[in-house]
Amino acid sequence: MSRELPPTAGLPLRLSDWLPGASGFDRALATWLGVESVQLECSGTSAMVIALQAMHQLRPDRDEVIVPAWTCPLVALAIHRAGLTIRLCDLAPDHFDMDAQQIASLAGAQTLAIVPTHLGGRLADVDAALHVARACGAYVLEDAAQALGARQFGQSVGLRGDAGFFSLAVGKGLTTFEGGILVTRDATLRRAFAENSRKLARPSARWTLQRALELFGYTLAYRPSLLSWFYGRPLRKALAAGDPVAAVGDDFDIDIPMHPLGRWRQSVGAHALARLSPFMETTRQQAWRRLASLRPLPGLTVFSDARGNEGVWPFLMLLMPSQEKRDAALRDLWTAGLGVSRLFIHALPDYGYLRDIVPSAALPQARDFAARSLTITNSPWLTDEEFDHILATLQRVLRDA
Ligand SMILES: *Cc1c(COP(=O)(O)O)cnc(C)c1O
Repeated sequence: MSRELPPTAGLPLRLSDWLPGASGFDRALATWLGVESVQLECSGTSAMVIALQAMHQLRPDRDEVIVPAWTCPLVALAIHRAGLTIRLCDLAPDHFDMDAQQIASLAGAQTLAIVPTHLGGRLADVDAALHVARACGAYVLEDAAQALGARQFGQSVGLRGDAGFFSLAVGKGLTTFEGGILVTRDATLRRAFAENSRKLARPSARWTLQRALELFGYTLAYRPSLLSWFYGRPLRKALAAGDPVAAVGDDFDIDIPMHPLGRWRQSVGAHALARLSPFMETTRQQAWRRLASLRPLPGLTVFSDARGNEGVWPFLMLLMPSQEKRDAALRDLWTAGLGVSRLFIHALPDYGYLRDIVPSAALPQARDFAARSLTITNSPWLTDEEFDHILATLQRVLRDA
């Protein structure tokens, strides 16, 4: 297959992004986000480890972290790496966000942090988490890995809670191949994060070189004519082998590299950041247009923004009326090269490799969401004809008895 679309709308890099001269990626990001300073890390996961450990040092009598039961497996690995205990919160019915009542029933004197999670650029209810956290003395750490650039009432996500982090991994918008951004407005936390980062993120020439080469590879290969080699073929191979976890890249290494974000990659990021706002505007307009075509489909739930929220649009997140219909749609679309995919395959306890880390629990809503959801790329490379083909497939599947 020649043409292959990525599952998310990543900002393409240019060779000119590699020219020297751009400095101050951290300052540019801070200005762009509207925060005093940011702390750069080598991944969102590593930012999360550093934040949680620093919080634990400030409140050593607390060691539980409440997270949505349907989220990135790296979140479980980060909590484990920080030496803390995972408490899974089920989702609200038909929603990706945590059930507010269950947050309240899980939280208590042991709770170190609650992690509202802005998935796929859509905003989570941070206030619900804050309400519970303030009552029990826990922190709120916003997982905004998939929401760099999202705003609520004009303010960046990640700043309403006590701290927040963003991911610069491949597939999450702006990328340095791997990277993470930690933000907080709390001076005590900011000092603790910086100190902890100096201890945990040790310079490594090997990682600096490897990641620079990987980012250069991304610069060359992130285009529809080459993505089948790096994305489509491995995906189809994994699906043919009956391994959807590998197909979506949910099969993470338990080991979490921790090192500084290399200078050269920061310079590439600084160049690319200058194009991020117009790119986000293009993808936002495309998303709203396409959501309007999806909304009338019977039985389909589309996720959008409530009043005052301005999310970002890496992909469109959809919930089908049943697993059968979701799977029927994916049978035609997942391997078609059109950027239709799934987000997380399982609720956290259902990943085999997390068995020793994540407690098992009932979690009916998280499992239901995993079974019925799918995503459509919002890459500008997805043409209107291609989108119409996806739309027609969904229409047919939803109509069939
Ligand atoms: C990707 C992701 C992370 C981890 O970020 P990395 O930069 O990939 O380490 C954390 N949480 C969520 C929801 C994610 O999607």
